Amino acid sequence: MTLARFQNGEWGPFEARPCAPIELHPAAHVLHYASTCFEGFKAYRWADGSINVFRMDRHIERMRQSARALVLPEPDPRRLEEMILTAIERNRDTVPEAPGALYLRPILFGTTPNIGAAGAAATEATLIVLASPVWDYFAGGMKPLRIYVEDVNARTASQTGKVKTGGNYAAALGPTLEARRRYNVDQVLFCPGGSVQETGASNFMLFADGRVLTRSLDSTFLHGVTRDSVLTLAREEGYQVEERVFDVAEMLQWVRDGEAALSGTAAVLAGVGTFVYHGEEHKVGSGDVGPHTRKLRERLVSIQRGETRDTHGWTRKI
Ligand SMILES: *Cc1c(COP(=O)(O)O)cnc(C)c1O
Repeated sequence: MTLARFQNGEWGPFEARPCAPIELHPAAHVLHYASTCFEGFKAYRWADGSINVFRMDRHIERMRQSARALVLPEPDPRRLEEMILTAIERNRDTVPEAPGALYLRPILFGTTPNIGAAGAAATEATLIVLASPVWDYFAGGMKPLRIYVEDVNARTASQTGKVKTGGNYAAALGPTLEARRRYNVDQVLFCPGGSVQETGASNFMLFADGRVLTRSLDSTFLHGVTRDSVLTLAREEGYQVEERVFDVAEMLQWVRDGEAALSGTAAVLAGVGTFVYHGEEHKVGSGDVGPHTRKLRERLVSIQRGETRDTHGWTRKI
């Protein structure tokens, strides 16, 4: 991992060291007031042996946005990039072949030791970039997901939905585990007031012949880099992409002969087979992962793995 500290109004030099426990004061701001954000993305080993990181600039920019939203010291983009590149370099030998990858997880958290600082920004912070090999997400095959549709409660407060901050995941955990226990589902699709948003850690999309529908960007949900990449590729493939607000009724109508999928770095696109809504099951198409989901996933994965030429400047050789 690489690690840097912010103290006395400035970032100190970063160091690279083996991943190991760090010391934290029990009064550290993050432990009381959840001043923390993170990122997650991957570097891939291509067939020629080179290591290539996917859309690192977008993840760095999103981390800076998250830091600003949480009033944490903003990492300098060049320094954070250097920390990421160093973390990749030091782990070069451990990057698995595709479909494995090196998962990169930058985290930033407030460390000011002051339990009376609920209404004050952290003046000290730590930035860490963890690197860890990951394996094939679909090692057990592409199993269609069972999704519980929550049409009352929100995943997060509307103003922090687009911030990748720890508290959001803690908040979604209870409802997700409860739905798993009661309905044997994989994830919860949050649709507060009936308006379709996203799941606990993935964006949500609908596919049909020549059409894609997904929620338009607003502050209530995370602006996924995978979402942006899939929509870009879909437009190139000739799909008409609609980004707008839509409700549960329209979604259930769509999936009678359409497809639904979750998007995010971990799985790229994961097809939905069944929705559980108000105690009733609604099959998505045939109940299997559909052809549009498979095709668009394959298009993106082949760029990430260097099997298709990257015409967007998304990949960067390390
Ligand atoms: C990280 C995340 C996503 C997916 O973002 P990607 O940039 O595509 O990995 C979607 N929703 C939530 C809530 C997330 O935390």
